[in-house]
Amino acid sequence: METKTILSKEAEKTPGFYGEFGGAFVPPVLEPNLSRLSEAFEKYRKDADFNKEFLYYLKQYVGRPSPLYYAGRLSKHVGSNIYLKREDLNHTGSHKINNTIGQILLAKRMGATEIIAETGAGQHGVATATVAALFGIPCKVFMGEEDIQRQAMNVSRMKLLGTEVIPATSGTKTLADAVDAALGYFVEHPDSYYLLGSQVGPHPYPNIVGYFQSVIGNEARQQIMETQGKLPDSIFACIGGGSNAIGLFQAFLDDSAVRIYAAEGGGSGTMPFTAATLSFGRLGHFQGTYSYCLSDDQGNPLPSHSIAAGLDYPGVSPQHAYLKENNRVEYSPVTDKEAVDAYMALSRLEGIIPAIESAHAIALAMKKLKDRNEVSIVNLSGRGDKDVARDM
Ligand SMILES: *Cc1c(COP(=O)(O)O)cnc(C)c1O
Repeated sequence: METKTILSKEAEKTPGFYGEFGGAFVPPVLEPNLSRLSEAFEKYRKDADFNKEFLYYLKQYVGRPSPLYYAGRLSKHVGSNIYLKREDLNHTGSHKINNTIGQILLAKRMGATEIIAETGAGQHGVATATVAALFGIPCKVFMGEEDIQRQAMNVSRMKLLGTEVIPATSGTKTLADAVDAALGYFVEHPDSYYLLGSQVGPHPYPNIVGYFQSVIGNEARQQIMETQGKLPDSIFACIGGGSNAIGLFQAFLDDSAVRIYAAEGGGSGTMPFTAATLSFGRLGHFQGTYSYCLSDDQGNPLPSHSIAAGLDYPGVSPQHAYLKENNRVEYSPVTDKEAVDAYMALSRLEGIIPAIESAHAIALAMKKLKDRNEVSIVNLSGRGDKDVARDM
């Protein structure tokens, strides 16, 4: 598969860094694991058979390419031309499966006998449990005790798929604690493969996740050229850790005429009730990487708040930190209320119930595109079935 420049020029010089962001700030015991993973990834990303197998599963199992759908009624309502990249139609219901397929193929080649993963809302846990079942590798998913209560349906799905769900009982008992628990298990079980779910964590994970998700933007670019004969004027995605956003953005980073927007989980709209890490965070080291983080005056990570569990994380991808610093991407907080309004609007106007995470991107697009009559792509990162039972 062709991927465009994933790394910045600086990152090519110093592997694992995007400008000053990124790196691998981990306990020494993890270093051998991460260098082994780095070597394997560098080898297989250039391997024709590996990429062929990846594309085979994306097509026959996930159902790719996902459509680029012209949202006619939404477009009319907003006064602009909006195309939706339909990641919600993928098997298991979101973009997360692109990354888990790629990483399980890597794990298989590295001889992994056990898969471990973290999950917040359970979407990445389900996508990991799915590919672990597909390839017959035992799987453990770490999940905050609080999230286990809140996301019962996804816990049942994981168990049905044969995965063991292990509660993380420290801290706020949510996603950041699940990552800590998974990293702790990884240190003690170096033969397991840690299948990380977003564009976060130590090098080489941001590279790996960015590479496997780049299929989104590569397809979208080709699809918009086919239907419009030109590049879009702007593109939009929501951002939690940053994987669906980087997946779409990469293919357009070098096209300076394409404006790029990312919607953060704004929560109530102000500190501390927010998950808008790039809008309100500070620079610091968090879970293995140097990037922005929601933290207090002493630099300790703060709990994040967003209506969307998938955006509810105090850290963020180092590549997005770099794109913010260079003003290539504009990051804006979208409040819980704005997201719920967009969630309702898309359901009523298009018959598509979006994930509440994706509704953040829709909300930002509706705001920025009002009566602009331009051509835009919005990444619909997932479907909203998981959110229907909630009282919004
Ligand atoms: C997990 C998730 C997100 C947020 O994660 P990113 O890594 O930022 O993409 C967004 N949308 C959906 C549907 C998700 O499941």
